[in-house]
Amino acid sequence: MSLQDITARIAKAETAAGRSAGSVKLIAVSKVQPDERVQAVLEQGHRCFGENRVQEAAGKWPRFTEQFPDVDLHLIGPLQTNKARQAFDLFSTIHSVDRPKLAKTLARLAQEMGKCPDLFIQVNTGEEDQKAGILPADADAFVAECRDLDLPVQGLMCIPPIDEEPSLHFALLAKIAERNGLNGLSMGMSGDFEQAIALGATHVRVGSAIFGERVKPGE
Ligand SMILES: *Cc1c(COP(=O)(O)O)cnc(C)c1O
Repeated sequence: MSLQDITARIAKAETAAGRSAGSVKLIAVSKVQPDERVQAVLEQGHRCFGENRVQEAAGKWPRFTEQFPDVDLHLIGPLQTNKARQAFDLFSTIHSVDRPKLAKTLARLAQEMGKCPDLFIQVNTGEEDQKAGILPADADAFVAECRDLDLPVQGLMCIPPIDEEPSLHFALLAKIAERNGLNGLSMGMSGDFEQAIALGATHVRVGSAIFGERVKPGE
């Protein structure tokens, strides 16, 4: 696979779903990938990337953004409140707003800094103990809480359980988003992004299908 293959598959899935061309944003997930692979994708013209750790992103991206100032970086992994300030500086978008304490911290920083990244609320659609995210039953209340805090919530994000049919989770996420008047849907990874697009994904997070297998565990 390559960036070009993935871009072509996304375009095809958009058409198949009756969606307009370019309506799905490809986040190239570069976590733990060697710099040469990231550099190659940048040189092919891609600018939107995803990282799951603040620390790793802070160590790696300043060099690239010097060379490619229009890079658009998304945080797709858990955010500790003590790293939130750093996340404001690094990322255009945070996909992992997953608890009231974090929402309050982000709201305070937004006040202080006069800006805020776009936000997605992570929903634990599979209700897995080990996974971050708001439970589906609590999602409506949490969306309302974030709106009360004036946070720029653009949509919802999920990571389906590894051993379940992802479409069920994508459909559930789409339903929760719709009843809350949210347009953004961050869902779909290397193995299932076409299904996600069929169910309304606006942002797909694709790593290994673009860059190859990760060399170190990055989950
Ligand atoms: C690593 C990761 C991805 C990308 O996974 P691939 O299977 O390599 O496409 C997507 N989303 C999140 C939250 C991740 O941590």
